[in-house]
Amino acid sequence: MAFVITSACIGEKHGDCVEVCPVDCIEEGEEMFFIDPDICIDCGACEAVCPVTAIFMEDEVPDEEHEYIALNRRFFEEK
Ligand code: SF4
Repeated sequence: MAFVITSACIGEKHGDCVEVCPVDCIEEGEEMFFIDPDICIDCGACEAVCPVTAIFMEDEVPDEEHEYIALNRRFFEEK
């Protein structure tokens, strides 16, 4: 399980999440930030500071945002 960044981050990229992540697993993509699901320790710090409520625990991602679970993972697989 990991936290997932969803569409609300697109064009927003506030970046507070990057500052608070204790394991440094949030990286910047072209349009949004992504969380590396293999490194995330589920602490929830990023979720608490996101100003646009873009971050959810994987099993709480809204149905219409489910594609972002794979998109976060793919970003790190394709690096
Ligand atoms: Fe980083 Fe914690 Fe957010 Fe995972 S839940 S991305 S470890 S701040």
